[in-house]
Formats: sequence, C-alpha cells, structure tokens
Amino acid sequence: MKKELDYYLVKKYPEIFADRYGKPTQTAMCWGFDCGDGWFKLINLLCWQIQHHIDSAKEAHEKALGWQKARDENRLEDIPQWIRNQLSPDYEIEIPPLVSQVRATQVKEKFGSLRFYVAGGDDVTHALISMAESLSGQTCEICGEAGKMQTGGWIRTLCKKHAEENHYDPKEYDREPGDAVGVLLKGEFFRGNVEQVHPDGTISVREDDWRKKDEERRLIKAREVIVYKDDKQPHNQDPENIFYRYWDAIEDK
Ligand SMILES: [Zn+2]
Repeated sequence: MKKELDYYLVKKYPEIFADRYGKPTQTAMCWGFDCGDGWFKLINLLCWQIQHHIDSAKEAHEKALGWQKARDENRLEDIPQWIRNQLSPDYEIEIPPLVSQVRATQVKEKFGSLRFYVAGGDDVTHALISMAESLSGQTCEICGEAGKMQTGGWIRTLCKKHAEENHYDPKEYDREPGDAVGVLLKGEFFRGNVEQVHPDGTISVREDDWRKKDEERRLIKAREVIVYKDDKQPHNQDPENIFYRYWDAIEDK
C-alpha cells in the first residue's frame, strides 16, 4: 500500500496501529499494510467501525459507573429519569462491559483476500473483521472496484481491467516452492503452499491452515488438470484452447 495511505491509517487509528513502527522481532505490523491500495477504503471503514464500537462501549460503561456512584451517594437527581424508571427496588444499575482495545498484529493479502490479524476485541470486532475479509474477496486489490478472485497461478482479487492489464494468464505461472496454490481434494478446495516440484510435473503442497500446528498440516501430492474448450483437441495447449486448469489431489494408494 502507498506510503501516504499507510500513514493516514496509522494517524487516524493510533490505538489499533500502535505497533506499526514496532520491531520485526516483536510484530509483523512493522511491514505495514501488505496489500494493494484498492483495499484502503475497506480497511479504513473496518477500523472506524472497530474503534467506534470500543469507544461507545467505554462511554456507556463510564456513564453507568457515574450513575451507580450517584445512587450510592443518594443523588438520584443526577440519574436520568429514564434510567430511574427502569431501576429495580434495590436500585441495581447494570454496568455494560468494556471492550479491550484491538491492536493489529498483521495486515496482509493472502490467497486473494484480506487478512486482518489482531489482539484484543470481542465478538463484534471479530465479526466486523470477518465481514471485511469476505468483502475483500470481491474488491479489486488494485483499484477498489468490484472484482473477482483470479485463480490462475497465485490467487488475487482483481477487476476485469486489472486482470487484463496484469496479463493474468495462468500459463505464465509455473509453480515454484513457496507459491500459494489451491488443490481440489475430495470435492473440497484445499489451500497450501508448494513444498516441492517433482520432475514429472506433480507438486507436493503443504496445507496452510492457521488453526493447525505445523506438524498437523498435511502434505498432499497434486497433479495439474487442464480442461479444454475444444475437448476434441486436448493436445492443443494453446492458451486460447484452455478453459481452465486446476490442481487435483493424487490419492495415496
Ligand atoms: Zn481494478
């Protein structure tokens, strides 16, 4: 993301991005926003919603504490009438909980969508993040227009114009160790990184699932399947004749 946009976000949400200039040994946030400018608006809106939720909770919490104090000191006139109307005979005042400050630990693009990793927050902030991450999968990472996930080679979300401009031709992207790929495994899309490219063109893919520990991540062998527009000419590997290609898991026998 452009320097100016990065700076704008850090300035506007100093608490969320408190670690932006932290040390690489302590936070991945030191790398800044590792995604395109097209997602700036989405991130800006997300942070506004998160901070607003935290600040509103704090305000409501402090207000209620003030009323509780007024009740304890018998200054009932300092409690708004509508609150007094709701009070039980023992004048219990409900104190809304605080929401812990959200701090971004890493913001990046991965498999074509936004990943916004944080510490702190509550169910509401987690839901907001999840919504923004989903929306990024339909938003061009370059310009912010409506986009689609392009799944040749590595996965990116781009609008039509930027997909064309970036010559998004799957044929150009030969796999190399470390590349992110999607593999079809028993009808499900399985995401991982290429660990090895074999001489016969097959690849070994290490599952990429943040919920799993390293030793639990499966290693799957896959071969490429090419679907041709004209299936009478399957040997015509002309890009024009390729409808789509995907990686198919090879079952262990
Ligand atoms: Zn675009």
